[in-house]
Amino acid sequence: MEDCVFCKIITGKIPSDIVYRDDTVIAFKDIHPVTQVHLLIIPREHIAYLTDLTEKQSSLVGHMILVANKLARQNGIAEKGFRVVINCGEEGGQVVKHLHLHLLGGGRLSEKMG
Ligand code: 5GP
Ligand code: ZN
Repeated sequence: MEDCVFCKIITGKIPSDIVYRDDTVIAFKDIHPVTQVHLLIIPREHIAYLTDLTEKQSSLVGHMILVANKLARQNGIAEKGFRVVINCGEEGGQVVKHLHLHLLGGGRLSEKMG
């Protein structure tokens, strides 16, 4: 996707602080962190919305969660706790139209979910 910011991060056209990469996903630091640890985990494949996922891609989401666990451990937040968030669509607060999982932690998070 030519005008997708996250596709440009994958190809290196836009610089980012990449903390993890494998064949299917990459993870990098959010440019505007809202918590001490704020990472984004994204598939290399351009999938715009969570609702675009097909049955075939269910293992991809499982993998994204396992990568979140790994990065939570690496960042020392696995024991105390953290949150993973996927925003979907306009009312869900999704700004970048490339599926991404937020890994948030490092201090007590708001109990409010919405
Ligand atoms: P959304 O609201 O779509 O779920 O979250 C998009 C996230 O991407 C935001 O937290 C925003 O700060 C982050 N973001 C947007 N553009 C860039 C960028 O160019 N680089 C990085 N590292 N993060 C970005
Ligand atoms: Zn994209």
